[in-house]
Amino acid sequence: MSGDGCPACTGTWPDEAQRIADCGTTIAYLHDDQFFAGWTFLVLKRHATELWQLESAERDRLMSEVSRVARAVATAFGAVKMNYELLGNQIAHIHWHLIPRPVGDPAPRQPVWTVAHDPVRLPPAAFAARIALIRAHLGA
Ligand SMILES: [Zn+2]
Repeated sequence: MSGDGCPACTGTWPDEAQRIADCGTTIAYLHDDQFFAGWTFLVLKRHATELWQLESAERDRLMSEVSRVARAVATAFGAVKMNYELLGNQIAHIHWHLIPRPVGDPAPRQPVWTVAHDPVRLPPAAFAARIALIRAHLGA
């Protein structure tokens, strides 16, 4: 399986400033749009586009990492519910979105992609503070 031209494999995405932690088979990053505070995603370290392309043990580790980071994010940001999204329509490289849905969610029954909003781009210090908060909850 080739990652030629894949932004995750060529190092053009995500930005290093978004990096939260190396989780094992994945690396966790903070999403650049922080409208949903704590929105995090995990990027598989190797190129694959579908879950069935992973070996069973690798897929199990992926799910463990998704679960561990989701718990940390949920706790850090007081999520009412976590959303788990594995799409790959825009970037065809396995990356798993973990989105905390807050108290006062503007559209609690809708997936985040349909919630109209202006992206929230935090100043660097505030962005780094959210990364540090998640790291603290990961024990990383
Ligand atoms: Zn890739």
